[in-house]
Amino acid sequence: MTQHRPDGPAASPTGDPWLLTPGPLTTSATVKQAMLHDVGSRDHGFIAVNRRMRERLVAIAGAEGSHVCVPVQGSGTFAVEAMLGGFVPRGGKVLILVNGAYGHRMAKICAYYGRAFEIQETPEDVPADPRALDAALAADETITHVAAVHCETTSGILNPVEAIAEVTARRGRSLLIDAMSAFGAIPLDAREVRFDALVASSNKCLEGSPGMGFCIARRDALEATKGNAVSLALDLYDQWAAMEKNGQWRFTPPTHCILAFDQALAEFEAEGGVAGRGGRYRDNCRILVEGMRGLGFRTLLPDNLQAPIIVTFHTPSDPKFEFEAFYDALRRKGYVIYPGKLTVAESFRIGCIGRMGAEQMHGALSAIKETLDEMGVKNCMPVAA
Ligand SMILES: *Cc1c(COP(=O)(O)O)cnc(C)c1O
Repeated sequence: MTQHRPDGPAASPTGDPWLLTPGPLTTSATVKQAMLHDVGSRDHGFIAVNRRMRERLVAIAGAEGSHVCVPVQGSGTFAVEAMLGGFVPRGGKVLILVNGAYGHRMAKICAYYGRAFEIQETPEDVPADPRALDAALAADETITHVAAVHCETTSGILNPVEAIAEVTARRGRSLLIDAMSAFGAIPLDAREVRFDALVASSNKCLEGSPGMGFCIARRDALEATKGNAVSLALDLYDQWAAMEKNGQWRFTPPTHCILAFDQALAEFEAEGGVAGRGGRYRDNCRILVEGMRGLGFRTLLPDNLQAPIIVTFHTPSDPKFEFEAFYDALRRKGYVIYPGKLTVAESFRIGCIGRMGAEQMHGALSAIKETLDEMGVKNCMPVAA
């Protein structure tokens, strides 16, 4: 690893670069330190940590009493797959609201599982449309479920999950939410937003290490999924039933990840929960967007559609700009950015989440300015503008 370390003053305390990405993300030193233990899966202390983790996650969703938390090993996609595979029964049909890669991924999962689905797609820079959803649900009685992405990380766009939930509930259907990149930073309260299941992971806005996802599921809806899953490892009902019995995971738990997550959740609470965490990310996002616009860059999204999670910038039209060289230079200066994932325009992305604040955002902006100067890039306006 040593030869890859950034050598500038920007380097984080561990010497690792700052990850301005949609995950994995920069974690605090104390979260990393929490992993320096080997614990047995049947250990009483570890079982208590799991109980506390599940209770805290339900509380973050404002879902005490109505919902339960079922953790699942793996990256975030494992949890999305477990949710769709469990909640959409054979004979069910899910309408998926798509405006980016993560919506398309849900469709792909349904195709793998042989579950009937339809997509309702808006462009990557247009939020999902609750009125079109209303019309689709009125027109097709066979749709049993609606699946939506809260923040579509492909572009960084915020989808109107409250309005989607209102329409879905009024039409008597069941809502499944991929809240992976929003949970913990963008408010979503089960007392106001009706959903049957929501998934997120340990490593995005909650700033734990990667390694596990979780589902916040309405208890009666989860109970009704018994027998639906066609994957044993991803059977949320079975995972939940076993955990309720003895507090243990069915299969080897990601112990180090869970210890780190316990610490990350304590730090989340200390920061003031969703309001505090979201506030820091909004500040990060504002500094980033203002700074980049000051350098001449254009954001894909107008401010009112931008979630404070990750920002998409158009690639500059200047012929001297080359993304790989730009990326490598920033990496050497201690900042990792992310390529674009858009189909509509050439772009790159810079994340606002993880254990970073104003100092790191200003540091990244300085590194970007320096790099543009080194490359001789003068015009940061996109081709079309
Ligand atoms: C990160 C993310 C996922 C999960 O991705 P993994 O790479 O499997 O962790 C799913 N949905 C959204 C919206 C995401 O941002």
